[in-house]
Amino acid sequence: MQLLHIMQSLIVVSPHYSHEVIVVGAGPAGIAAAIRLSQLGIACLVLEKSEGPRVKHCGGGVSPRAVAIYSKLGFPEDYFLANGNAITSGWIHAFGHKMLGHTMNGKHGFIVERRQLDWDFQQHAIARHSVRIEYGAAVSGIRIHPDYVQAEVRKDGHNKFYSCRFLIAADGAASLIRSRLSGHKIRPTDMILTSSGIVESDADFVPSIRFHEDHMPAYSWIFPYTNGRVNVGIGIYANVYRKVQNWADVEALIGRMQHPDYQGKLSRWIINTNALENRVFGHRVFLAGDAGGFVDAFTGEGISFALRSGMAAADTIARVKRFGAISSACYLFSMLPVIARLLIAKGLQRFLTQFPATTRFILKWCLKIGVLRRLVYRYFSNS
Ligand SMILES: Cc1cc2nc3c(=O)[nH]c(=O)nc-3n(C[C@H](O)[C@H](O)[C@H](O)COP(=O)(O)OP(=O)(O)OC[C@H]3O[C@@H](n4cnc5c(N)ncnc54)[C@H](O)[C@@H]3O)c2cc1C
Repeated sequence: MQLLHIMQSLIVVSPHYSHEVIVVGAGPAGIAAAIRLSQLGIACLVLEKSEGPRVKHCGGGVSPRAVAIYSKLGFPEDYFLANGNAITSGWIHAFGHKMLGHTMNGKHGFIVERRQLDWDFQQHAIARHSVRIEYGAAVSGIRIHPDYVQAEVRKDGHNKFYSCRFLIAADGAASLIRSRLSGHKIRPTDMILTSSGIVESDADFVPSIRFHEDHMPAYSWIFPYTNGRVNVGIGIYANVYRKVQNWADVEALIGRMQHPDYQGKLSRWIINTNALENRVFGHRVFLAGDAGGFVDAFTGEGISFALRSGMAAADTIARVKRFGAISSACYLFSMLPVIARLLIAKGLQRFLTQFPATTRFILKWCLKIGVLRRLVYRYFSNS
């Protein structure tokens, strides 16, 4: 009888979860979250669907702010100096105006190959912060219970169930977890449609983002690597280009861009920019990085926001553990500065696409006035 009693009490107190925190996705958001959790002494498991270094279509522009956050996570600027192309000047070509500048604090960003950067960051997390990453583990569904979260995972051809107290969804722009939670896919108005590729070139390019009337409503970029290869791409604001059902239109736009002959295969990708409209947290689940839509809707920059939201999600979990579910709202509060910037980005993007001629005029005057010029440069370089 007494034994039965003890067993009953054990059943009541034993947690329903096998992991304290599960992080889904080993991109910048997921790894930043995992490192931060490890710094806070909270155990976590990262589930990543790729088997090894994955292909990530990206310009590879790492802003000075992103470099600073990587450093905070123990991934030093030296890495970027050794593996990237430092952006000491350059950046914006807009409507015939060229803007060469330097960041105000002397910090610079880098152009890095994303596949390598993400892999090295993951290996850094494993080696230096004892982060556990399970590769080849694709989350195919989640269920939220009052006191735990259950994730269904496809691994080695089998379905497994993992349970955790908290879950950080850092599974990218096409986040399965976000669509499972909200029941919505990304709205076309919240998307940037992108295409990028790498070309060989011996020309000497300055890294730049380009806005041209002839490829509105879109921007393009030319980001040279150190090894004679250049990352070129285009981002199309889908809110004003709803007709882009047919990617031939995108290819035609690319044809009109000023860049070397495009030899690489076109990749077609989306950028999710709806952080401001969707709920990005619950008591147990937090959406970070692209999954939460933390991307600049004007320039498509997302790495620094992914790192920042991953860290903020980890910090919030530490608070919820200490002070209870009410502190889950801290996630939103700590992301307020980012959200303010993303709001400005949405406004700028809408203005530019509706009134390109006015934008050109305003920009011309901004570039003539020192302080405004520095502000514009600061916005683009995110320093
Ligand atoms: C073409 C293009 C160019 C860009 N250029 C720049 C740039 O120059 N500078 C910049 O700052 N930003 C750029 N961005 C944006 C930037 O790439 C993203 O904002 C950033 O990668 C977001 O990081 P993340 O960790 O949230 O998501 P991701 O980097 O997409 O990582 C998500 C991870 O989750 C994994 N995953 C997905 N689903 C599952 C699942 N079901 N189960 C398990 N794992 C899963 C994926 O394999 C992946 O490893 C660009 C984006 C695009 C598309």
